[in-house]
Amino acid sequence: MLYTKPDYYDKFHCLADGCEDTCCAGWQIVIDDKSLRNYQMQKGSFGKRLRDSIDVKESTFRQTKDKRCAFLNEENLCDLQLALGEEALCKTCRNYPRHIEEFENVREITLSVSCPEVARILMEQKEPVQLVSVEKEGEEEFEDFDPFLYSFLVDARAVMRDILQDRKKPLSIRAGLVLGIAHDMQVRINRGDLFSCEEVFRKYQKESAAAFVKKKLTEKFADKDAFYHWSKHLFGKLHELELLFPDWEAHLSETEFLLYDMGSYVYEKRRRNFGKWAKENLPDLEIMLEQLMVYFMDTYFCGAVYDGEVYAKMRMAVDSVFYLYEMFTARFIKNEGELDKEDIILLVYRFSRELEHSDTNLERMEQFHIYRT
Ligand code: SF4
Repeated sequence: MLYTKPDYYDKFHCLADGCEDTCCAGWQIVIDDKSLRNYQMQKGSFGKRLRDSIDVKESTFRQTKDKRCAFLNEENLCDLQLALGEEALCKTCRNYPRHIEEFENVREITLSVSCPEVARILMEQKEPVQLVSVEKEGEEEFEDFDPFLYSFLVDARAVMRDILQDRKKPLSIRAGLVLGIAHDMQVRINRGDLFSCEEVFRKYQKESAAAFVKKKLTEKFADKDAFYHWSKHLFGKLHELELLFPDWEAHLSETEFLLYDMGSYVYEKRRRNFGKWAKENLPDLEIMLEQLMVYFMDTYFCGAVYDGEVYAKMRMAVDSVFYLYEMFTARFIKNEGELDKEDIILLVYRFSRELEHSDTNLERMEQFHIYRT
């Protein structure tokens, strides 16, 4: 069995009560069967508290009115862990912020940037992120698993990683190139011609492809009005997602107000001002955006082995970075011309919490871009 993880994986340590937020509020924590049986067998007053705090029908912990887990105490520590020890935590709590994607004979383990500490580690990493693999004993077979498609996806991800991490090119060109690969792969997958994907990889690694993308992007950005309407429309789609934290809606509306309310001229000017300021004051911003795009690609792209939706998955990675960039710009305006690393970490982990902790939201985000030929 092959295990892969990003190279920053071992830097992570949970900050527990030193954490600026908590991972035990806002979303439903699903309890696995083994832990549920253990909780139901506990005796005494803590056993009673356990049974009173679990929704057995849904296999979830109950939450307080402000959506905190029933076991999260005032110091942001877990009463269940304090009473029964770490080994009694359910699988969800034990694993978080680890995110595991399962494939035949492969486990891809990432760390979710919905944890502020992970977001910090990723935003502070300067070197391009690499995946590290370890082979361990054990084999397994999955029903209906397509190993050929999986192997093409792994190859495609490696090619796209090289492109995304080619820092000689602006990130917008790199993003355009990987979207081109995903689009052309999707066309071939839809017509059952997987093997010709090799041609796609070769085509997009040529300098002529970068020149083509540059020309297309120049045309797109030249029409300022069209770009403004496209951005406003795309950002507005975030309202179609299920809301996990009630204050997120106000954050989205505020971002829209600061960016889009005064039309295309002001939008373009504010974006330009932020870009100019960031070049001088936040020179690593493009590296941070690259790390985020690679993060979303690493986490979700190979999941296309189960539904074939390669383009939608790559679009989700690129769009997520677009959404974050818009939020950074809006925060810069709100801060009257300032944006620091803490703002960035906060926006990254809050965005990730809304998107990545809801299967509904991950599906809806992909649905925005399902490509049919
Ligand atoms: S959000 Fe991360 S650092 Fe904070 S308590 Fe949870 S796992 Fe620990």
